[in-house]
Amino acid sequence: MDPLLQDDFATVLARNPGEDEFHQAVAEVLESLGPVVRKHAEYHEHSIIERLCEPERQLIFRVPWVDDQGRVRINRAFRVEFNSALGPYKGGLRFHPSVYLGIVKFLGFEQIFKNALTGLPIGGGKGGSDFDPKGRSEGEVMRFCQSLMTELYRHLGEYTDVPAGDIGVGQREIGYLFGQYKRITNRYESGVLTGKSIAHGGSQVRTEATGYGTVFFTEQMLAESGSTLSGRRVVVSGSGNVAIYAAQKAAELGAQVVACSDSSGYVVDEQGLDIALLRQVKEVDRTRISAYAEQRAGATFVAGGSVWDVPCEVALPCATQNELDGAAARTLADHGAIAVAEGANMPCTPDAVRLFHERGVLFAPGKAANAGGVATSALEMQQNASRDSWSFEHTEDRLREIMHGVHARCAAAADEYGAPGNYVAGANISSFLQVADAMLALGVV
Ligand code: NDP
Repeated sequence: MDPLLQDDFATVLARNPGEDEFHQAVAEVLESLGPVVRKHAEYHEHSIIERLCEPERQLIFRVPWVDDQGRVRINRAFRVEFNSALGPYKGGLRFHPSVYLGIVKFLGFEQIFKNALTGLPIGGGKGGSDFDPKGRSEGEVMRFCQSLMTELYRHLGEYTDVPAGDIGVGQREIGYLFGQYKRITNRYESGVLTGKSIAHGGSQVRTEATGYGTVFFTEQMLAESGSTLSGRRVVVSGSGNVAIYAAQKAAELGAQVVACSDSSGYVVDEQGLDIALLRQVKEVDRTRISAYAEQRAGATFVAGGSVWDVPCEVALPCATQNELDGAAARTLADHGAIAVAEGANMPCTPDAVRLFHERGVLFAPGKAANAGGVATSALEMQQNASRDSWSFEHTEDRLREIMHGVHARCAAAADEYGAPGNYVAGANISSFLQVADAMLALGVV
């Protein structure tokens, strides 16, 4: 890291003890910014980095709810409103037992830069709870969502803070959250949450957007090196929202998607994943990935283990943070991987990213590759504001255009700052410049 940035990083470590994921996310960005602060003294003079690393507002609150046995349960929820220089805070809610302030801050910090990369007017935020939806009934999930919104609603608004889904939060949860918001406020303010179902103000393609966008970015990255996805062997990790639609779009573009996973293990299906069956197992039955192998002749389930042991040319990590470490990266490179694109947020550890760069494996960081989800959320806000709804085709065209723009911005910034082909540097520099200039223009606020 450039010596000019080391004091800022030391401040982050001191102010946020024990928040390892947040430290990791900040370090990754600061490591790219040396040439930028050398060229632009004004950022340092106005403490832009220190300001960027300190959230504008952090909320932590209790969520009491009653389970099906009549017992009172208590969870903790968070909303970190990180930066609103470019627009209202925007970013998802995650329900997973691992959620604590450090996870929400890492995700919120990433979100600032991701949202800037889309070129759309949205600031960065993130939230969530340590609630575990696994094994909970519909009624329990609904009561939890209603209780969470009973506190959160006062902090939201289409011009203030607009949450969406993330791990453990899909259309069902967004529906319950929106229902409670509407009831409390007595306002049908569609633009206050995104990821809604089409039945109540959602956008076409929002469900598919993150996975599709990751594949559109991958396509562009391969095209730069004169290659395509067609005929490529692809492995996806996870089997949730992002993984399913990344697999679907890659298959549509002619790739052979041979494996996916969940936290219990992975399936290998050499014929190419049957996406309809995958959707049935995960979206309708809401069960484990092993059920896919039970229902598909020729597919095998491997309990535990690493999906990255399955040889592939293109890897799309779409599960969770730090799921692909240096050893897994080495295995992938040894097996001949040519490209890796992060559908999830920060799934590759710093060691893994270093190895990909050393071995010449094309690497797309999540803040660029998975920006299609939030970009389509912004399109949902646009449709809500104008009381309009667009066709699937039109929305998908807009998403493709936005992802091409994200790719172009990353590539141009990497070239300009002497790191051609380095999408990590390109994504961090391009988005930082945009946010930093907006912050400078807004004065000390
Ligand atoms: P889902 O809840 O739909 O799916 C998550 C998937 O990842 C599940 O298959 C889950 O398996 C697996 N997973 C979660 N934690 C672990 C773990 N510790 N080890 C192994 N597998 C795990 O979430 P999404 O698909 O929405 O999100 C996936 C990633 O994409 C996250 O990093 C999220 O932040 C990121 N993202 C999501 C966006 C969106 O629009 N949804 C937008 C941009 C980024 P299991 O069911 O066993 O837990």
